[in-house]
Amino acid sequence: MTLLQIPVAGVAINDARKNAETDDSTWQAGLSLPLFIPQVYCTDAARRLSMTVFDIPCRMPRTNTTDRLVDLRKHARSIVRILKRTYPDAECALQHENAFQLLVATILSAQCTDERVNMVTPRLFATYPTPEKLAAAPQQNVEKIIQSCGFFRNKATSLRGMAQALVERHDGRVPDDLESLTSLPGVGRKTANVVLGTAYGIPSGVVVDTHVKRISKLLGLTTSSNPDIIERELMEILPKKEWINYSHRLIHHGRAICIARRPKCTECPLLKVCPRVGLPPLQ
Ligand code: SF4
Repeated sequence: MTLLQIPVAGVAINDARKNAETDDSTWQAGLSLPLFIPQVYCTDAARRLSMTVFDIPCRMPRTNTTDRLVDLRKHARSIVRILKRTYPDAECALQHENAFQLLVATILSAQCTDERVNMVTPRLFATYPTPEKLAAAPQQNVEKIIQSCGFFRNKATSLRGMAQALVERHDGRVPDDLESLTSLPGVGRKTANVVLGTAYGIPSGVVVDTHVKRISKLLGLTTSSNPDIIERELMEILPKKEWINYSHRLIHHGRAICIARRPKCTECPLLKVCPRVGLPPLQ
């Protein structure tokens, strides 16, 4: 026997319909009921049961591609609303004062925690405050300062190469378009999205880091493990104006509540809309 989130008849139906109409969210129209049914979140059987027997929507997306997209967009909007309420002021966790510093910090953050990067960057920024100074810095000196970030030789090479390209091709300024940014040494699409979104307020894509990847799957917004595919899928279902903050908020959520391997689901404000994909039922 499993606990299945499914709408029930009686008074609850009216409440559920009201929720579904006013809140624009068919995902919230369920109550918890113990049923002798296997885990069916991801099958059409539960949807048909819910629609035909109880005549109200259930939590899972439909499998028809168009209908599924409509369901996912509604689901995504519900999540965004709750994230906005919960983390109204979430910002980029990498400390920086300008686009150049953010670009440097984001390159350093590959395979490294933001906390570690924030420990290293004050000295790096004080020693090499401009692209010109970093471009002229000896490789060994940069390596020494960033050593604790991991992959320090490659990262030092990328940082110096990036700074040299800024000086040679962009008058020492960080460009504000995706193509120019991704043509810089050490700068991939994720790094470019971070800089464009956070430093320039340009929603060029969705930043998919380890938290965004993990929690988006738990929330049922994607089934992929490939960051490029996840980004494409999220861009399809999230409102464009939310692309930047969705990542900031999910990263905060991943640190505070939806912690890897020990998510605090019972304390989570997203619990009522989260299908908890892949997790065992709550006791
Ligand atoms: S309900 Fe649980 S799995 Fe879902 S977002 Fe919250 S903590 Fe994560």
